Amino acid sequence: MNEYVGFASGKEVIRRYFQPSSGKSRENAVLELDRMGMEHHPCCMTNSAWPEAPPTQAIPAVPASLQVEVGIVGAGIHGAALARELKLRNVSCALIDKGAVGGGTSQWSTKLFHGGIRYLVTGDIKQMREGLQERATWVRIAPHRCQWEAFWMPHENAFEGFTHRVGIGLYDFWGSDRPLWPPELKLGGVPRRLFERDPRSKNGPFHGAVAYADCLTWDREVVNDFVASSDATLLDFHEVEGWSEQAGKLETATLRDRRDGTLRTVSARLWVIALGPWTDEAMHNWFKEDSHRLRLSSGIHLWLDAVPGCERPWAMRRPKGRILFAIPRDGLMQVGTTEREVDAGWVPIADSEREELYHGLEVCMPSIPWRQLKVHKEELGVRPLMGHQGTTTRLSREAVLEVHPRYSNLRLVLGGKLTTARHLMDKLATELTNAPCPASFTAPLTKWDGQTPRMR
Ligand SMILES: Cc1cc2nc3c(=O)[nH]c(=O)nc-3n(C[C@H](O)[C@H](O)[C@H](O)COP(=O)(O)OP(=O)(O)OC[C@H]3O[C@@H](n4cnc5c(N)ncnc54)[C@H](O)[C@@H]3O)c2cc1C
Repeated sequence: MNEYVGFASGKEVIRRYFQPSSGKSRENAVLELDRMGMEHHPCCMTNSAWPEAPPTQAIPAVPASLQVEVGIVGAGIHGAALARELKLRNVSCALIDKGAVGGGTSQWSTKLFHGGIRYLVTGDIKQMREGLQERATWVRIAPHRCQWEAFWMPHENAFEGFTHRVGIGLYDFWGSDRPLWPPELKLGGVPRRLFERDPRSKNGPFHGAVAYADCLTWDREVVNDFVASSDATLLDFHEVEGWSEQAGKLETATLRDRRDGTLRTVSARLWVIALGPWTDEAMHNWFKEDSHRLRLSSGIHLWLDAVPGCERPWAMRRPKGRILFAIPRDGLMQVGTTEREVDAGWVPIADSEREELYHGLEVCMPSIPWRQLKVHKEELGVRPLMGHQGTTTRLSREAVLEVHPRYSNLRLVLGGKLTTARHLMDKLATELTNAPCPASFTAPLTKWDGQTPRMR
């Protein structure tokens, strides 16, 4: 039996975060960590960047060792969706996370179940149609987490308006399965008087808009719904200290409870690693793998004061192809997003990202005093992307399920989207258990009650 135990040392992390090519010395790196409000304790910056574990009195009684069919590491949308799929197939599992459920990328998305209107431009039609199909499934299984919206895409001139009408016409045709669509939401050409009533249209470059359908959601709540809909033994705030293997298979993970230091073990017949943007880092720390499976790109959202008179979400095409959203929701105005290639799962927001966003808002909707609006929340999420060629904007958002080359019982979930996570995990669960499960499309999600999920 071999044991693998590994953590990046502080020095190693500084080396990886601050490559020599960036021209930053180690001393500068430490200063930069100070500026970022992160500790540079010798143990490891990656650890110190993780949100604090809750106090020890919150710890439920947990057995010292567990034996399950499937061990899942990572309780984001993918790990949690897989836990539900396994329950639907009567297969036991443990769901392990170093932080809280849904505490990673799955709480910092744009929070849309969508086909991806920008794929009309990039030509990723297959992914778009899959997303549109899945959007309808979400409304069926989790209507309490879905809110249909008529998004307005404004145009600068009649020709652009015509191309939007054609593209959006196709998008809404392929996405015509819209259960529970509220009839008062109108699609297609937006009447001029309605457009001109919206304060975002004043003094700006746009002269009209075409409305298309998409669905707002609440991402972290959906992840919690999945956990509530599963029978997983939940080990949140547990850090993997080491692995044991036998005959080319991963066997047991040794875990340390970050709240009180207790050691526990989980043994499983099959393992799935779904760590979003932290995958490469963990595979390096645990198994000394140096290969980079992912490219990482950050995107930010600002949650600003609501702007009176703005009712419908706007989606604006920017010259480099990324869509700029201004979405009135939850009593605020959510604006985003951006794209910047980064090299770690935890990165602070860069001033350039804020500036890019404000610049886009001011160019597209100059009559709103964007910089004077109170910022209620700033969010940065890191997209885990597949592919090595070109800029991250051009990389596909399609997910890959990798069979690990060394451990035949280990699968990695790489890339992906919130919207397609259920479908992907249905596929993975079918492959792992040899049991297709049509109920995955129809079984309603249990609504999470807002309480910290309990150990089962
Ligand atoms: C800015 C932005 C906007 C987006 N907008 C949308 C959108 O509108 N619609 C859409 O469909 N998709 C969207 N996406 C994509 C989507 O959010 C992500 O693809 C998805 O949330 C990834 O989920 P995941 O489960 O793979 O990863 P995560 O949610 O990151 O989950 C990984 C989990 O692993 C845990 N973890 C990490 N390291 C360890 C470790 N060593 N040990 C144990 N646990 C660990 C983390 O705590 C985390 O909980 C967006 C992404 C971004 C960044």
